[in-house]
Amino acid sequence: MAEKEKSLNFIEHIVEEDLEAGFSKKQLRFRFPPEPNGYLHIGHASSICLNFGLGLRYDAPVNLRFDDTNPAKEEQEFVEAIKEDVKWLGFQWDRECYASDYFQQLYDWAIQLIKGGKAYVESQPSDKIAAQKGTPTEAGINSPFRDRPIAENLDLFRRMKEGEFEEGSHVLRAKIDMASPNMLMRDPVMYRILHRAHHRTNTDWCIYPLYDWTHGESDYIEQVSHSLCTLEFAPHRELYNWFLDQVVSPDLVRPKQREFARRNLSHTVVSKRKLLELVQHGVVQGWDDPRMPTISGLRRKGCTPEALRNFADTIGIAKRENVVDVALLDFHMREDLNRIAPRVMAVLDPVKVILRNYEADTEEWLEAENNPENPDAGFRKIPFSKEFYIERDDFRETANRKFFRLKLGGEVRLKNAYIIRAEEVRKDTEGNILEIICTYDPKSKSGSGTPESLRKVKGTLHWVSCSHAVDAEVRLYDRLFTDPTPDQHTDRDFIEFINPDSLTIVQGKLEPGLRTAAPGARYQFQRLGYFCVDKTSSPGQLIFNRTVTLRDTWAKMEEKS
Ligand code: ATP
Ligand code: MG
Repeated sequence: MAEKEKSLNFIEHIVEEDLEAGFSKKQLRFRFPPEPNGYLHIGHASSICLNFGLGLRYDAPVNLRFDDTNPAKEEQEFVEAIKEDVKWLGFQWDRECYASDYFQQLYDWAIQLIKGGKAYVESQPSDKIAAQKGTPTEAGINSPFRDRPIAENLDLFRRMKEGEFEEGSHVLRAKIDMASPNMLMRDPVMYRILHRAHHRTNTDWCIYPLYDWTHGESDYIEQVSHSLCTLEFAPHRELYNWFLDQVVSPDLVRPKQREFARRNLSHTVVSKRKLLELVQHGVVQGWDDPRMPTISGLRRKGCTPEALRNFADTIGIAKRENVVDVALLDFHMREDLNRIAPRVMAVLDPVKVILRNYEADTEEWLEAENNPENPDAGFRKIPFSKEFYIERDDFRETANRKFFRLKLGGEVRLKNAYIIRAEEVRKDTEGNILEIICTYDPKSKSGSGTPESLRKVKGTLHWVSCSHAVDAEVRLYDRLFTDPTPDQHTDRDFIEFINPDSLTIVQGKLEPGLRTAAPGARYQFQRLGYFCVDKTSSPGQLIFNRTVTLRDTWAKMEEKS
């Protein structure tokens, strides 16, 4: 759908109103402002789609801004990963910006505030500051340093910057109102001392600006018109505006903060801090483990950027928080993959079938359609021979009439091949089935047009010729948590809800064309689901990740229980 045809979300209504009130369309500018302290998750994808979607709708630039003011948690690795993820989603930023590029400007403005009597150096420890903050219903207490002479403030602040003091010994506070009903306005801290190397500015600075002081001023420096953030920042808006008031000039764009609801996804957690815990505790194998709700995890699992964007578009943006069912994301993955993924055959729990009446040492190459949803995808040839694998689960010695797969004495069609009949089973001493002996109807070849080929049989099975099969490790992923909202329990930690069966590894038998399947390639394994070649896969050692099953098996289970 073209951006313009979609109905407007409430943020777009705000922009429309501003345009109607005379704001120039040419001055629209947006930004996506991640902190590089982890990998982006699906919640960020919503924010990316919102901001870059606005850019597309209004043909306006969107900056990618790294909000990198906390060297204790931020790393270059995360910067690179974030850039890759935004690009992969298909968006192009105008400028690549870093809050750390504004350290000098922010410092100069802080000096200006001090000179204007709007900021002071606080020399009490943090617990003391907290104790004097008051409560939402009681005013706070003025710091004994609140009325420090300006010259002393300037001197101390300069020396903080020069590195003369220890961490925690002084902070710079804005001088606003200790009795404000908004606790955030009670002389908020603007700077703290941190003797840490920063991933970009190295040891140039040992005082670092805090979020509230940095964010609005960065928006202003970049001339962002609409600064969109999640709801928890709504009480910060007053402070955002107060800080802007101290520096804006009337002939420049004054950024506007507006808030939208955070997106939560069921059966997972969307918080970098919690995701980091999963990585650190070894619950998953890294940020891009396919079970992670990170953009990189979803990509590795085989999700397409289109599926993720369609998902974000469908849920839209909201004014209130809620939890979106992960089944909706699965739906969008299936929908897109159904369109684009070539069909192939793979048997993941193989049992051997031997055709009694098929000549040994011969093979036929049968024609198979690559994607019935896409006529341009064409056909391929797959080998058929006397011995092939089917899924163990597709055979029963005895079964009732509703079992349409293979049973002794019964018939099924082999996809793109022949109709077979099961005659006999061979077992080991423990009773496990080793081989199923069948006969085939030589006249029943699919697509041959003979009356035998047109005969109706109920079941169609996928299969892979034994001598041609390629081996692959196949990783079957399931939801990472058994609970729909693992981090919403007050009495239990989210880690307690980890699904012990979130990963099952099997050895599959695949049709031979997959021998050279390249990392990232996506397929439908017929009757099983969508699968993607893992980034660590190689022709000698194939690894596939299951993206999503063909149907929602959880919905069925939940119905039953
Ligand atoms: P986290 O708690 O996971 O670290 P964050 O909000 O601290 O999230 P940032 O890197 O600061 O992460 O976020 C960048 C942008 O993405 C912000 O504008 C933020 O509001 C938005 N964002 C983060 N999480 C979500 C979410 N779950 N839904 C929608 N937007 C989100
Ligand atoms: Mg954060």
